[in-house]
Amino acid sequence: NTPVPSDIDIAQSQTPKDIDILAREVRLLPAEVDLYGKKKAKVSLQVLQRLGSQKDGRYVVVTGITPTPLGEGKSTTTIGLAQALGAQLKKNCFACVRQPSQGPTFGIKGGAAGGGYSQVIPMEEFNLHLTGDIHAITAANNLVAAAIDARIFHEATQSDEALFKRLVPTAKGKQEFCKIQLGRLKRLGITKTDPKELTPEEVMQFVRLDFDKDTITWQRVLDTNDRFLRKITIGQGPQEKNMTRETQFDITVASEIMAILALTSDLRDMRERLGKMVVASSKAGHPITADDLGMGGALTVLMKDAIRPNLMQTLEGTPVFVHAGPFANIAHGNSSILADKLALKIVGEKGFVVTEAGFGADIGMEKFFNIKCRYSGLVPNAVVLVATIRALKMHGGGPTVTAGVPLPKEYTEENLDLIEKGCSNLIKQIENANFFGIPVVVAVNSFATDTKAEVELVQKISREKGAFDAVICTHWAQGGLGATDLATAVEKATEQPSNFQFLYDLKLSIEEKIETIAKKIYGADGIQLEPLAKEQVERYKRQGFNDLPICMAKTHLSLSHKPELKGAPKGFVLPIREVRASIGAGFIYPLIGTMSTMPGLPTRPCFYDIDINPDTEEIVGL
Ligand code: ADP
Repeated sequence: NTPVPSDIDIAQSQTPKDIDILAREVRLLPAEVDLYGKKKAKVSLQVLQRLGSQKDGRYVVVTGITPTPLGEGKSTTTIGLAQALGAQLKKNCFACVRQPSQGPTFGIKGGAAGGGYSQVIPMEEFNLHLTGDIHAITAANNLVAAAIDARIFHEATQSDEALFKRLVPTAKGKQEFCKIQLGRLKRLGITKTDPKELTPEEVMQFVRLDFDKDTITWQRVLDTNDRFLRKITIGQGPQEKNMTRETQFDITVASEIMAILALTSDLRDMRERLGKMVVASSKAGHPITADDLGMGGALTVLMKDAIRPNLMQTLEGTPVFVHAGPFANIAHGNSSILADKLALKIVGEKGFVVTEAGFGADIGMEKFFNIKCRYSGLVPNAVVLVATIRALKMHGGGPTVTAGVPLPKEYTEENLDLIEKGCSNLIKQIENANFFGIPVVVAVNSFATDTKAEVELVQKISREKGAFDAVICTHWAQGGLGATDLATAVEKATEQPSNFQFLYDLKLSIEEKIETIAKKIYGADGIQLEPLAKEQVERYKRQGFNDLPICMAKTHLSLSHKPELKGAPKGFVLPIREVRASIGAGFIYPLIGTMSTMPGLPTRPCFYDIDINPDTEEIVGL
């Protein structure tokens, strides 16, 4: 019963091994590993070719019930389970997690390396710049933004002939230019395939992209919580000739380029996706892409190192890939396909890969299956559904839980009644996982105040309501040792026959796909598209984007669209305010309510506590 020290104290009390030693332990070749300092490395995608004929390991996704604003321990459980499988049960095991945004690290939530005795170390490097992937995304994203406004400016101030001369200075250049623009040519109704056959008039038609400024969806990004950038006016310098425009900054992890990093399968695919990103429509209603701006190649160059997953380690010295961290509402909130694929090959047929899906099972897990697995072709073997007594009590009608405020007594004293009622949420999330045909193990992430009767009640209900098993785990207080029962249950679950299926067919209409998710996963009676959303759906269908998967941007604090509705709400209709598209990443995202894509700082942000000892360079307060 000794108190558990703070996350950073635990992390700093353990000396991580040098990462080249870990790389050797997992049998990577020296040529496949690029060291970034001593404790981090990037791993080459060549590993996929070298181990191509090897069978994949077992694939386990960690998700959770609808959380309190404090988080219920998905990251902690992902790391704890990997420590149990790898360090305690001596299996080959990789954990695959997201890279955190620096916004929350310095803002409200703090670091995201797991917690207690289940963490990724060095947690300072994990939480800060890592190997610069987020900086690369910021650079690539903002190059697109700069290109859009510069192009609008040049088109407004030059004749067709002058534009053409500058864009296409040589005859060879004309060939290349026309080739790149063949996609656009088709959209303009020009069906020639050899650029040489184009008449001068035809060439002139696509010199001008002719932006409809009101349709620009591309924003600038920054990895800082800076609320005053939520709405800005650009172009106020006198050289820009009064071509001002209102726009905004998003946090970098909300960039489509982050979603692409997470969903891409290799450099060629990334080049294609970056080129396909739609940034606006022309006045004639045609989509304008990054390739139309001539920049798909340059963006890929900026992202060429970011595409390789980052190798780090857990507190118990087992391997972790940290790679990509897309926003979990307007994007799909899962770490990268490439990290999972590499890890599945490296661990081999008898090994395990534990990957985490953001938010609750209604969001992160649904997108894991319907978007990430659809693009990766990977089939998971088990779902771990993390539940806590505090979240279940909240769902059963307990008082509001607020970050930074001590929990009311309902949460610290035994209360079986609240838990039983609150299990409605757990039962619905078990059902949600079962829709995909994969066995579910409920992990009760135990807190010091939980009683035996409380956790046993959750186990009993889980088993009765469709979970393969339900296990109590104490990895936060005890490390991998506290999750060995979970590891054993997960191993058994992965040996069960499974019957993986997607929730919907891509050929259904956009509205039908949204409705399927709303009714089946959220328990809604139906959906209601507002006029703007209807208009946007029609535009995407016209532009040929109907057959993409859906990425719902909904609150994670309720199964419904209203954060205050806990448990498993019934009798609601899901309002769809807007529908947007990330064509390069490859999904349509309906907005349910307003989604802030640029968080703000509270009065007393986390940075108050962060400091460094100038003598030892030791960081405190992360
Ligand atoms: P999620 O990934 O679901 O958002 P995290 O794993 O980041 O949740 O955990 C949220 C916070 O709760 C972290 O600060 C973590 O240290 C803490 N935490 C997790 N599990 C426990 C536990 N069993 N006891 C006490 N604190 C915990």
